[in-house]
Amino acid sequence: MALASPSNLLSLHNAGSKITSALPFRFAMRYDYNPKVTAIPDLALFDGLSPDDPGPKALPTLAECAVHLEMLEAFQALRQKVIHSKKLDQAFGMEPNRKTVYRKVWNGARRRKNRTYTIDKFVLKDADFAGKRKEKWTYFLQIAAVRFHAWIRVVNRCLKDHDANGAPVPRYLLLPPLDTLIIWHAYLLNCDDFKSYCAVQNLHHVQQIAFPWADIHNAIDRENWSYTLPSEQSAWLRENGNLDASLIDALSETTTNRKNPAWHLLKEFNSMTKTPWTEGLADPLVQTILNARSTRGANEALVNNVSRQVVFVDKMHGHRWIRSPAVHGTLRRAVDRYDKFLHLFRLYPGTFLVPTLDVDLVWHTHQCSAEDYRQFVTERVGRFINHDDKIGRGTLDFGFTSAEEWYRVTFGEQYQVCLCWSCEAILEAVDKMGDDVLAKEDSEALIRDLSVRVEREVNYYREVETARRLGKNLPVGWNHHKGT
Ligand SMILES: [Zn+2]
Repeated sequence: MALASPSNLLSLHNAGSKITSALPFRFAMRYDYNPKVTAIPDLALFDGLSPDDPGPKALPTLAECAVHLEMLEAFQALRQKVIHSKKLDQAFGMEPNRKTVYRKVWNGARRRKNRTYTIDKFVLKDADFAGKRKEKWTYFLQIAAVRFHAWIRVVNRCLKDHDANGAPVPRYLLLPPLDTLIIWHAYLLNCDDFKSYCAVQNLHHVQQIAFPWADIHNAIDRENWSYTLPSEQSAWLRENGNLDASLIDALSETTTNRKNPAWHLLKEFNSMTKTPWTEGLADPLVQTILNARSTRGANEALVNNVSRQVVFVDKMHGHRWIRSPAVHGTLRRAVDRYDKFLHLFRLYPGTFLVPTLDVDLVWHTHQCSAEDYRQFVTERVGRFINHDDKIGRGTLDFGFTSAEEWYRVTFGEQYQVCLCWSCEAILEAVDKMGDDVLAKEDSEALIRDLSVRVEREVNYYREVETARRLGKNLPVGWNHHKGT
């Protein structure tokens, strides 16, 4: 539609941001009270999440993409928690290197002739410590990689046994601990690597499964993005794979007992000492840590997969669509745009195409169900499309330009669009209005009103998000469906 044309959107975006910047942030709290705090994200977003495998015929659903956004927030939250955990600093034997210096401190006014001084002691902050603490995340992933191999073998064995006796597998068994999920997720986004890993390790059953979106959704707390396994699943993992439900908790707990061999081992996790370890070998955690230390080279690729994904996770966290008032529309359009993106691969074989951020989210969601994705894409495009995130910047820029061009030529729509909350909310409101309303003569005034209304709504959502981030009480809700 003409209204959604690039120039119109740009002016709406500009108008929107002018209104936003003119408003004091508190404004959104003041105007329309509702006793119920608006649930953000709206739970209707997850309607239709099915615990069953939809099969290879389907594109990812809006609900699955929404869970993907929740999951990436959970990944981001865990990374922050690991990096900023003082307990883990202690566990890995990290402490700031504080220097003590002595300085003259003058007493009295500067101009006084006979003023005196004392020599005071100062403890300087370790400026490098913040950087050093970040290394914990790499150590954490190195241990997570070992747990991933253990977890995937247990799950595959379980799937195989159930297959042999014809019983369906309880879906929750496919739900890994969060650290393992991070490794698995990043591996799945390197489709061919994951497939050959499964082939070499005889993990054919795992390669077939659909990603457990519904269970992941249930494990995540939408208030603080923490992730908790159901208790029956924690017990199952402990019994069948000797795995702790939460790696960060298990590592933190080592510090509560001075004699804990796991703690002593962790403290020298990164040191080059090759002295054979003899203490506490019966402890599964000690075994895991020892294993992580010796397989660091072999697991490097798995850790690197996650490190490359961090950029994407941070971008998604920056956009925070999961808290946006227009998340329904953003994801609905993203799925549609992904469908078109795949179509380009079919139309222009041999062209290298790079997705936009929203299209990439849907693409990743699709790849998480490895075999379904493989079958769907092979059928739709006529060949398999591997997702390789190891490609360099120059090639990516080139691939983006071709995608942009072909998309415009083929569908008559813009490829790169602004995905900010305001633009998305305006687009959503315009979509709801319909073409007949917009064809009226006073449509300009309508658009102006609409843009003001949308900005109020966006402001309210921003206010809620700010309150959440600052740990304050949430502002009183505004029922945006009332549409005042
Ligand atoms: Zn915008």
